[in-house]
Amino acid sequence: MSYVNMKTILEDARKNRYAVGAFNIVNYLTAKAAVEAAEELEQPIILQTSVKTVKAFGISEMMNYLKPIAENARVNVAIHLDHSTDVDFTKACIDGGWSSVMYDGSQLSLMENIKNTSEIVAYAQARNVTVEGELGAIVGVEDDIVVLEGNHAHANPEDCHLYLKETGIDAFAPAVGTAHGVYKGAINIDYNLFETINQFSPCPLVLHGGTGLTDEMFHRLIALGASKVNISTAIKIAYCQGMVDYTRNYPDQNDPLKLDAFTKEQVKKVVTEHIRFFALLD
Ligand SMILES: [Zn+2]
Repeated sequence: MSYVNMKTILEDARKNRYAVGAFNIVNYLTAKAAVEAAEELEQPIILQTSVKTVKAFGISEMMNYLKPIAENARVNVAIHLDHSTDVDFTKACIDGGWSSVMYDGSQLSLMENIKNTSEIVAYAQARNVTVEGELGAIVGVEDDIVVLEGNHAHANPEDCHLYLKETGIDAFAPAVGTAHGVYKGAINIDYNLFETINQFSPCPLVLHGGTGLTDEMFHRLIALGASKVNISTAIKIAYCQGMVDYTRNYPDQNDPLKLDAFTKEQVKKVVTEHIRFFALLD
């Protein structure tokens, strides 16, 4: 079976100390490009959809074109909802066919976050869907969620303990200093905190804000236990710049299929580079 939930994919990654790329796709073309890259490397992949993207298409319309891509793939594919802050919308996506969801209650108090995340976990488990949770706040802009630096501290290990024990999530994103979007200034990652949390966490850890980290940072975090790495901004750049490059080079061609083929290749290249790197392929 090629359409699986996230747990199926991440358990092997955690055991064998590599990471799986979770790519934020925005339409059919980017989803297809990402899955083709994974197939060529014979690696599993997580396709992520932001809430904004799902709302732009509608839940069933989007799943209607994503599901065949996942079901026909030659590698394991999970379709994951990224950063959902709305309990009802998260449940609607579970009902709509997503095999995995992230409920992001990081802006709430610890107790409210635990309560809502637990509600999602119970709903998801009954449907064989996996859940990612977050604690602390990953700064930057993701979708329309803006988190300012200094607004929230890094994840606190004691809070993480309680959160993991009470919710029973399948993957955990603790804030350790990475940011969404394009990094401005120095990147301060608390590697010790990440390692500490990984040691007691019963589930695999997730790294958000992957675009812009150096190879050395990735390697260190994967060695310390990052099993899922989210890549969003790099995909958006490859897609948009691919279109710009093509139309600049061929301003009078007006051939949508050729434009799409060129853009798809650019996205595929970026996904390929990341998968090779995360899976530690040569
Ligand atoms: Zn994120």
